[in-house]
Amino acid sequence: VFIAFEGGEGAGKTTQARLTAIWLRDHGYDVVTTNEPGATKVGMRLRAILLDKETTGLSARAETLLYAADRANHVANVIKPALERGAIVVSDRYVDSSLAYQGYGRELPVEEIAEVNRWATDGLQPDLTVLLDLPPQTGLGRFASPADRMESEPLDFHERVRRGFRKLAEADPDRYLVLDATRPQEELSRQIRDRLRQILPD
Ligand code: C5P
Ligand code: MG
Repeated sequence: VFIAFEGGEGAGKTTQARLTAIWLRDHGYDVVTTNEPGATKVGMRLRAILLDKETTGLSARAETLLYAADRANHVANVIKPALERGAIVVSDRYVDSSLAYQGYGRELPVEEIAEVNRWATDGLQPDLTVLLDLPPQTGLGRFASPADRMESEPLDFHERVRRGFRKLAEADPDRYLVLDATRPQEELSRQIRDRLRQILPD
């Protein structure tokens, strides 16, 4: 079982991914928690390039390919091996982040980015994608100041990203669980657990 958490900055993906993993382990499942970008050694170097505020002159297409390269390495070295041994994989971000950020945010053709990512991931899709949806001002307001290159993008960029995620979720309701990330943590975890009970193996 492969579960991805998606959403904008400060939505609480990391927190909910962690709480989900704890709950699954309590129920005896073998769980691998992971994140993008940067879950592998090469990925950490790509993450540094992608998120360093000193990085300038990175074209939108090059950015897309670097995220896809990180993801290809992530799938090959972390996600696939874990799934093959029967573990549940919980990832903080996956392909839909690229569709939302580089597609809707950077305004590159979404279907082309999907194609690049199908190749990069060898077609691996999550069984469940949890979208933590919230207004970008609220999410960005949860940080003292923009920590990385992407968070430093203007508000309208983050508004496009948010709309993008919501469109992706609408187009694939069976795979998506959309949650109002302004709600209390405990309520969000409960909704995630309710959905997970329906898809977990015994
Ligand atoms: O906070 P997190 O570890 O998720 O940081 C990842 C950063 O990478 C975020 O600021 C996000 O905006 C950015 N990102 C992106 N495009 C992707 C994936 C992540 O711009 N495809
Ligand atoms: Mg962030």
